[in-house]
Amino acid sequence: MLDTASKTFFQLLAQSGVLKTLASRFGMRHERSLARRFIPGETVEDAVYAGRALAAAGLLATFDHLGEGVTTHDEADVATREYLEVIDALILSGVERNVSLKLTALGLDVDRATAVDNLRKILAVAEPAGVFVRVDMENSSHTAVTLDAFETLWQQGHRRIGVVLQSALYRSEQDLVRLNALGARIRLVKGAYREPKAIAYQKKTDVDATYARMLKTLITDGTYPAIATHDKTMIDLARRWASERHIGSDRFEFQMLYGIRRDLQTMLVNAGYRVRVYVPFGREWFPYFMRRLGEHPGNVWFVLRGVFGERG
Ligand SMILES: Cc1cc2nc3c(=O)[nH]c(=O)nc-3n(C[C@H](O)[C@H](O)[C@H](O)COP(=O)(O)OP(=O)(O)OC[C@H]3O[C@@H](n4cnc5c(N)ncnc54)[C@H](O)[C@@H]3O)c2cc1C
Repeated sequence: MLDTASKTFFQLLAQSGVLKTLASRFGMRHERSLARRFIPGETVEDAVYAGRALAAAGLLATFDHLGEGVTTHDEADVATREYLEVIDALILSGVERNVSLKLTALGLDVDRATAVDNLRKILAVAEPAGVFVRVDMENSSHTAVTLDAFETLWQQGHRRIGVVLQSALYRSEQDLVRLNALGARIRLVKGAYREPKAIAYQKKTDVDATYARMLKTLITDGTYPAIATHDKTMIDLARRWASERHIGSDRFEFQMLYGIRRDLQTMLVNAGYRVRVYVPFGREWFPYFMRRLGEHPGNVWFVLRGVFGERG
């Protein structure tokens, strides 16, 4: 299966230290650089600039200061301090108060307590300022611990926080029922990682069918869910399902990634829906970029055209 093979291939490339170093050195230099289609830049100013352009087009935003997989306490501390600076800068700039982050950037691979402590530090600044914090979902080795960390913080009274479920995983439909009962804000995605057969659907049709079921449950029973997909069939289904049940367009939102299906983003805004664009930025953009290439082989041709275009 091309789908699966391409995800695996780019997941392996994402782990390459050499490629990551080369990419960080050269990848973002030019306005026309390959990665800039998906990542507006490396600095918070780049993200704010992108956020303003989105707002002018009627789109909402969530900002992700890219980083993942830190392996020491010191790196996790640095990442947390950087995130706090980013939140301050976003607040000062007046753009949307909404961020997304990965627990492995805060030290989840060092130990759970470090990551949860660091997330608490972020919430301590974010919550009083009205900043919503979405905890992204990473690969399946982090699913249980991420949900557990989220639920712990929820039980402790944190409410400006949300989580993500991936329809690719068998367990997600059960997680959905439990999290809906809490009243948690869920972002539904298909899943960006290649996962083993023992725990995840391998066929796209199964991932899509599960997404459709979960989408219906979320729109009916969820708390302001985020339907995060570029799949027009799923988007149409969500619209139909909500409208048949008289569920207003203010009770959920669509989410899409920066630079992907801008036509759909605009079409939905014009039709009166809320659309939030995920704006990733920062020096650590390489693994994110590799996942975008892996999930859509057409992007490889886009990138190659860019390479030859720049040389020609
Ligand atoms: C806002 C947002 C947040 C996300 N957060 C997470 C997360 O926390 N954890 C996680 O595992 N995954 C996350 N994802 C990624 C998600 O899991 C999918 O990998 C990704 O969205 C592609 O799946 P799709 O639903 O768009 O459907 P697909 O069926 O894969 O694609 C449908 C159509 O969308 C377009 N498309 C999809 N991907 C691309 C691309 N990369 N480049 C160009 N066109 C494309 C194509 O036209 C394609 O035909 C997130 C996605 C979004 C939109």
